[in-house]
Amino acid sequence: MSSDKQDKTRVVSAGRRKEWTQGIVNPPVWRASTILYDDVAHLRASGARDTHHRLFYGRRGTPTQWSLADALTELEPGAEATLLYPSGVAAIVSTLFALLSPGDHLLVPDSTYDPTRNFANGLLKRMGIETTYYDPLIGEGIAALCRENTRVIFLESPGSLTFEVQDVPAIVAVAKARGIATVLDNTWATPLLFPAIQLGVDYTILAATKYVVGHSDVMLGSVTAAEGKYAALRDTTYQLGQTASPDDAWLGARGLRTMAIRLEQHGRAALQIAEWLKTRPEVARVLHPALPECPGHEFFVRDFKGASGLFSFVLNGGGEKERAALIDSLEHFGIGYSWGGYESLALPIDPQRFRTATEWKAEGPAVRLQIGLEDPEDLIADLERGLAAFTEARG
Ligand SMILES: *Cc1c(COP(=O)(O)O)cnc(C)c1O
Repeated sequence: MSSDKQDKTRVVSAGRRKEWTQGIVNPPVWRASTILYDDVAHLRASGARDTHHRLFYGRRGTPTQWSLADALTELEPGAEATLLYPSGVAAIVSTLFALLSPGDHLLVPDSTYDPTRNFANGLLKRMGIETTYYDPLIGEGIAALCRENTRVIFLESPGSLTFEVQDVPAIVAVAKARGIATVLDNTWATPLLFPAIQLGVDYTILAATKYVVGHSDVMLGSVTAAEGKYAALRDTTYQLGQTASPDDAWLGARGLRTMAIRLEQHGRAALQIAEWLKTRPEVARVLHPALPECPGHEFFVRDFKGASGLFSFVLNGGGEKERAALIDSLEHFGIGYSWGGYESLALPIDPQRFRTATEWKAEGPAVRLQIGLEDPEDLIADLERGLAAFTEARG
């Protein structure tokens, strides 16, 4: 399984409209706050028109941002338009604000990214919006949780930390029959591995900070809206004053050009390492969508074009101290948040702390790995040392 030729070609050509690039290979960084008008009549006419793709005021973007936004739209067949945000969390928050009002009900998978849960339990709750968390494997059973006032079903597939793959088409079918909007956090797969809009999702979100940027040096988010769904998102985004800087968008576009080949390498190396970890007696379980034992694996096989480079594993016994001994002994894995860059990372994770609708039980502590672009053999040797340190710490 790998991204096909068309995808590789598309990430190279997408968004490079001559209007945005002026004939240069990469669109220049157009920095702006003020846009100068020819005369008062020009100023009046500009304000009265839709400012999407038109110079109006710096907050509404310049060709640098539009080029990346258009590129992300082109990667999603059936999409209308894309907006950029200063982070992935800003993209999530703006989309939910665009779709929800006081008195509404929201459904969120129990495996969701923790800041998404914080927003639902914090600001959304304060605004009078109620959230129900659901088992990520619920599929068409989500119908039983839909109420008269349910406006949004949020999805994240695979789930953060634990990697359950959702039956997105089944949930989308339930939502469509009831006029409920669907919002997917597609950061793990990107449109190259999971064509969300084509599969019926209304809004697909990327923490572009991860694979789009690809170099661990920029915060960026995006939301791509299906045909007919863009206006609501745009209006709320403008009211919230959300904007991404042209410099960051430029770096995002630069990263995007190599995303297909990076994803292929991340995916291949991560699966090789996941399969190696599975053979180790110190490891109780590997949580990787491409492995048959991963909950929802059948939906991964049916709907995804491949896997990316992030997965977790559960240790066979031990505790905090033993897990720390493993992670601290690694040479090629940095210890830190985020992922999707060229370098490998290891993170201690405790998914049970974030569950409210389902129970997450484990044989021991868990570790999340972001597999970078190093030689996988070096990473395996590193993990072998880590597992030896874990065993030694267990005594
Ligand atoms: C990192 C991440 C986000 C948030 O992105 P930021 O750019 O860090 O705000 C959202 N969803 C998922 C699944 C993530 O891993």
